[in-house]
Amino acid sequence: SKVPSITLNNGVRMPQLGFGVWQIPDDEAQVAVRNALDAGYRSIDTAAIYGNEEGTGKALAASGVPREELFVTTKLQNADQGYDSTLRAFDTSLTKLGLEYVDLYLIHWPLPGVDKYVETWKAFEKIHSEGRAKAIGLSNFHAAHTQRLLSETSVVPVIDQIELHPQLPQAELRAFNARHDIATEAWSPLGQGKGLLEDPKLAAIAGKHGKTPAQVVLRWHLDLGNVVIPKSVTPSRIKENIDVFDFQLDSEDLAAIDSLDTGNRLGFDPETFNG
Ligand code: NAD
Repeated sequence: SKVPSITLNNGVRMPQLGFGVWQIPDDEAQVAVRNALDAGYRSIDTAAIYGNEEGTGKALAASGVPREELFVTTKLQNADQGYDSTLRAFDTSLTKLGLEYVDLYLIHWPLPGVDKYVETWKAFEKIHSEGRAKAIGLSNFHAAHTQRLLSETSVVPVIDQIELHPQLPQAELRAFNARHDIATEAWSPLGQGKGLLEDPKLAAIAGKHGKTPAQVVLRWHLDLGNVVIPKSVTPSRIKENIDVFDFQLDSEDLAAIDSLDTGNRLGFDPETFNG
């Protein structure tokens, strides 16, 4: 496929564009993941809390795509943080996915008020040392949370998956991650499709390049160096969202996209969300 890979800080290669399956029911996930694989996606982003690891795993198995060509991410659900509970939860996720290893395992949220992410990370280190997760990383971690892991544990996280789109470009957190050789992955990269994709500035840029607003936003992410995982259950959009490797944004386009920054979150604030 035309999707480039990035090299994570432990040498593992990860496709820069993948398919997210949040809010897709288990039975529909089977169809959606199949459509994504047919369209050329090889990286799939699921999570225990999404309730669709089984459907995702069935689609992967049925596709016939060799395991080594796939990149599967899942996440530890909040209620399972803690050393022993993480080890158990990971086993459950692997069983549901029908896999012998995942490519990437993430702590879904830091839950600073719960204060279990350090012991949770130690369980992640064990899983990683056993080769059952080729890479381990974070989601929704802010600099202070990550900094604490860096000082109290051994394995540097490979990635931080955070809410990131033109309305919340996360410049500071991206710079912090980059300084520590931690890749940044954008969740809700299309701003969940809501207001963002109707913005007239995006429509103008899209028209200029003969592309769609969603494609313009994904191209912006890729140019920033972000890993992206757009979600859709609509086959035409699944194809559209991976067809972003044949055009370039210019500095005028980038300036217009920069002006969309509102600083507003669609999801929880990691500082105050405690599960
Ligand atoms: P998204 O930004 O990918 O937007 C998806 C929505 O945008 C679709 O439901 C559809 O309504 C619309 N859309 C998609 N393609 C379109 C197109 N080409 N044209 C017009 N509209 C289009 O939102 P998301 O699902 O929230 O985020 C993507 C993935 O990120 C999730 O599926 C999940 O894997 C991950 N995620 C992770 C976290 C986390 O806490 N780690 C939180 C949210 C999402």
